[in-house]
Amino acid sequence: MTKRIFSGAQPTGNLHLGNYLGALKNWVALQHEYESFFCIVNLHALTIPQDPKLLLEKTRDLARIYLAVGIDPQVSTIFVQSDVPEHAELTWVLNCVARVPELERMTQYKEKAKKQQENVLVGLLDYPVLMASDILLYQTDLVPVGNDQKQHLELTRDIAIRFNRDYGETFKVPNPYIPKVGARIMSLSDPLKKMSKSDDDPNSRVLLMDDADTVVKKFKRAVTDSGTEIRFDESRPAINNLLEIYHLITGKPAQTVEDHFAGKGYAQLKGDLAEATIEFLRPIQQRVREISDEQLDAILDQGREKAQQIASVTLQQAFERTGLSV
Ligand code: ATP
Ligand code: MG
Repeated sequence: MTKRIFSGAQPTGNLHLGNYLGALKNWVALQHEYESFFCIVNLHALTIPQDPKLLLEKTRDLARIYLAVGIDPQVSTIFVQSDVPEHAELTWVLNCVARVPELERMTQYKEKAKKQQENVLVGLLDYPVLMASDILLYQTDLVPVGNDQKQHLELTRDIAIRFNRDYGETFKVPNPYIPKVGARIMSLSDPLKKMSKSDDDPNSRVLLMDDADTVVKKFKRAVTDSGTEIRFDESRPAINNLLEIYHLITGKPAQTVEDHFAGKGYAQLKGDLAEATIEFLRPIQQRVREISDEQLDAILDQGREKAQQIASVTLQQAFERTGLSV
């Protein structure tokens, strides 16, 4: 049987190169090999306060990006998380399986909770349980995610195993699919942090929808390391990151990239990187603008129907096992 994959991104801001190179690029490649579900996880977005009107807009923008980068709605299921209420319903059941200390141990929680200080939202703590529901509802085999989500996926596995043990075999225990390269793109302003949509500094990331001038400006401002040599070297994280982005965007082998920049300066690296990025983004931005509201509605309706068909069966099983339903 064809294996199933599930993945998603939050409509918390505009997608950046890290999201594309670490996640979406792989989704596009994997969709022909696996039965694929790509979700716009707007319930997750609420774990950080959002402007309601903007959230709605960003949800649709994100769906457009999915399509523009090459996710094919004839092949993959694209849907909005809140359109399928089973995600929230299963979360409640799994909340009664997950434990507070294991949620408090999550790195993302600890980092994001600092920003909310004494007003940390319950939803922020609960984020990984919602993510477990997303994945388990579809009896997912593989979850293509960036390295930053590995810990959450481990927890999903623990929750599935515990539920199956306590209530009887219900959920498939999923495995991570983490690509070898490009799994982690770093911030342009602090190469020790990952590039992130929710980083306070907009210059830390290049957005898929950035115009040419902005791309040039952001790469120009990107921090560099001491020294002058341009080669892949993990002990010089800023240059390593810029080279990695160049390598992934151009598809040129690492050695070719190093040869190209041998004897050249940082200004050239940044200039060439900006140029390659602009070329790469142009057709994606063009396609985003071409998708009409009607087309988008139809695709998301169809996605919701397909997703719900599967999700409702799993939820019913979970309800039966736990004594919520016969
Ligand atoms: P936020 O800061 O709101 O959490 P994010 O940039 O981390 O946003 P998500 O929507 O949480 O983006 O993640 C979407 C997908 O992109 C996930 O699969 C995640 O692993 C991947 N991803 C996020 N940031 C990076 C990065 N810097 N490098 C590679 N992959 C990434
Ligand atoms: Mg994230």
